[in-house]
Amino acid sequence: MSEFRNLPSVEQLLQTRHAAELIAVYGRSLTLSAIRTVLDDIRTSYGNDNTIPQRPAVLELAEKKLETWVEPTLLPVINATGVILHTNLGRAPLSQTALQVIRGMSAGYCSLEYRLSSGQRGERSEHVESLIKMLTGAEAALVVNNNAGAILLALSALARRRRVIVSRSQLVAIGGGFRVPEIMRQSGAKLVEIGTTNQVRIEDYENALQDSTAFLLHVHHSNFKIIGFTEEPPLSELVKLGNRYDIPVIDDLGSGALLDTSRFGLAHEPMVQESLKAGAALVSFSGDKLLGGPQAGILAGRTDLIQKIKRHPLARALRVDKLCLAALSATLLHYLKDEAEREIPVWQMIATTPEELKARATRWRNILQTGEVIGGLSTVGGGSLPGETLPTFLLALSVKQPNQFMRRLSALKPPIIARIMDNQVVLDPRTVTPDQEGALLVGLQNVLGIKG
Ligand SMILES: *Cc1c(COP(=O)(O)O)cnc(C)c1O
Repeated sequence: MSEFRNLPSVEQLLQTRHAAELIAVYGRSLTLSAIRTVLDDIRTSYGNDNTIPQRPAVLELAEKKLETWVEPTLLPVINATGVILHTNLGRAPLSQTALQVIRGMSAGYCSLEYRLSSGQRGERSEHVESLIKMLTGAEAALVVNNNAGAILLALSALARRRRVIVSRSQLVAIGGGFRVPEIMRQSGAKLVEIGTTNQVRIEDYENALQDSTAFLLHVHHSNFKIIGFTEEPPLSELVKLGNRYDIPVIDDLGSGALLDTSRFGLAHEPMVQESLKAGAALVSFSGDKLLGGPQAGILAGRTDLIQKIKRHPLARALRVDKLCLAALSATLLHYLKDEAEREIPVWQMIATTPEELKARATRWRNILQTGEVIGGLSTVGGGSLPGETLPTFLLALSVKQPNQFMRRLSALKPPIIARIMDNQVVLDPRTVTPDQEGALLVGLQNVLGIKG
């Protein structure tokens, strides 16, 4: 240990000018922690033949530590993957109006649980319930933290120690640990699996009915497709059966589109309105998938069921915050005013024509003076419309080491997330918002070594 006698002490280091500068930027306690950590690192990892670092070197190391400690890892990125609802990149970007209301609501106080008309205590979820009811035709609605939470809550409040019947073809895992069977166990509901992976008949549902059946659960496939020999009764058949036995049907739609995706050349994604019209007692869907709003889980349907769910203690644990409610109501208003396609980024991206995309990719190519504009496919993602694609145009860059190039793109500020296709790095204009284009081109010039 004697070789460390020459190591400067914390006190000596703190007296230097460099330490004073670090304290001014990072604060005293963080700087002190960094210095101590560096000294510890040196004591544990320096071998006998290494020279012991002196004050300037120790402080350089401490500064590096401080820089990495305060470097945020949650950053806005440029999504050039062409996956519109990219779960790992935060799913739906919000509309300009939603952003404005979030700003206004977060700076001060708001009427979150206060009825301005009467001066009495209100309920936070009220602010969006009437909008959801108007848009979907539901009797009642409730908003919670996310759709997984909405399902957990509905199961806990309505099916504890009772049977819930689900087809094996719908026992899905959505990713990020959301597995229908596990959620069921957590809620205390008894899962009754019927049918097979590729085939389930209405008789299978009927044969499983017993007195203690709380409801029939219908789950949208979301992120996979069963092709070939398949059979699944439509929701309306389940409702018919449920009506005969007085058992409600709950439909987990996952994405929950409010606009018809088939208008944009995509397959038809089940819509919330349709599901309720078909007789589902409750539907649940996410706020940040095709709805194009903030992360939220929405339950809409029968008043008696919603009331029961609202009274469950988990409803409090899963409640949404004021920023979510503000953004959600702004998003829902776009639908009510028939301007969703124009104002909500997810729908703007879906609606962008191949011609516009070709023009944008070509403009990028002309500015960069490199690469090639090629045809390609964008996807909706986020567990919506599996296997469905939208034709697009990509800027394809032939680079020597595509993986390394991608890493350099994601190290930029702001990071650019691209895709590799046929050994080329490709960038899809569909998911790059117009205000990010400048930063995208500067970033690409940088990594390509082109002078801007
Ligand atoms: C995405 C999805 C969920 C989970 O929704 P989150 O809002 O991510 O919690 C649940 N069910 C289905 C069918 C889904 O597609």
